[in-house]
Amino acid sequence: MGVLGQLRKGLFKTSGRITEGIGRLFLGKKEVDSTISEELEEILISADIGFSATQEILEAVADGVLRKELDNREALVRTLQRKVSDMLTTPQTDSLLEDNRRPLVILVVGVNGVGKTTTIGKLGARFRQEGKSVICGAGDTFRAAAIEQLGIWAERIGADVVQHQAGADPSAVAYDAVSAAVSRNTDVVLIDTAGRLHTRDNLMGQLEKMKRVITKVIPDAPHRVLLVLDGTNGQNAISQAREFLKITGVTDIAVTKLDGTAKGGVIIPIVRDLGIPVSFVGVGETVDDLIPFDSGAFAEMLFTG
Ligand code: GDP
Repeated sequence: MGVLGQLRKGLFKTSGRITEGIGRLFLGKKEVDSTISEELEEILISADIGFSATQEILEAVADGVLRKELDNREALVRTLQRKVSDMLTTPQTDSLLEDNRRPLVILVVGVNGVGKTTTIGKLGARFRQEGKSVICGAGDTFRAAAIEQLGIWAERIGADVVQHQAGADPSAVAYDAVSAAVSRNTDVVLIDTAGRLHTRDNLMGQLEKMKRVITKVIPDAPHRVLLVLDGTNGQNAISQAREFLKITGVTDIAVTKLDGTAKGGVIIPIVRDLGIPVSFVGVGETVDDLIPFDSGAFAEMLFTG
């Protein structure tokens, strides 16, 4: 299956709900008129597009209705697609996959259970497919299972792993992983972290310390901080992201588990309100189920399925 097919599969639940709603909108009606606004609002909100992004989309639709450009379902869908695609366009940033700094150090942050370790495995696999060498640093030392899980992923994708005992200092893991990458001439270092929001100060202290020790090895590292958000959390993913942004700078976002939710519309407010590009979406549990995010394709499929 190509990337577009994977995205379609991942968005199936979200786009299914939206297209079904739009279908209902047109039951017994052949034209778009001003009465659709309220129903459309409900459809967009139910896909977790969020209040203010929804209002912005409705304004574009109302404009089209006024100008009598939206006289049928196809025209409405086209307007929705164009508007969402515009909303998802962020200033061009260099893609994480094409960041050629070496070794490229990527710190992966996010709340427990959102899919950090899995995303590291999938992302590492991508780098490996491009012939790059990878070291995974098991920086979530709070849970023995997390260390073990990362080890399994590393073995599966042919990456090295740097791990300490459960309970060890995550900064020591980060330091060792980056040092190992320098001495082994490794291309990419992916560092896992623990995420516990109920101890925000601890978490902030921990991430800051990890960054500080990394700069002792490579002064301008970590080069990227990838925030992983769970798409099934819908609007809560946004408040979670805001919490994280208070704790650390973030360069990239991955939204996981799109395949398990009808709340995939949340990507729109994530990009619009946080101003950080979504670089990847997770659409399943296997190694190939992480795809680079394509805003145009996303906007198109959201309304067509
Ligand atoms: P972490 O605690 O943040 O490291 O989360 P994990 O990587 O352990 O992932 C938690 C669960 O989510 C695991 O069962 C993963 O298989 C699952 N998971 C991660 N990403 C995806 C995804 O894109 N789709 C689906 N369906 N499951 C995912």
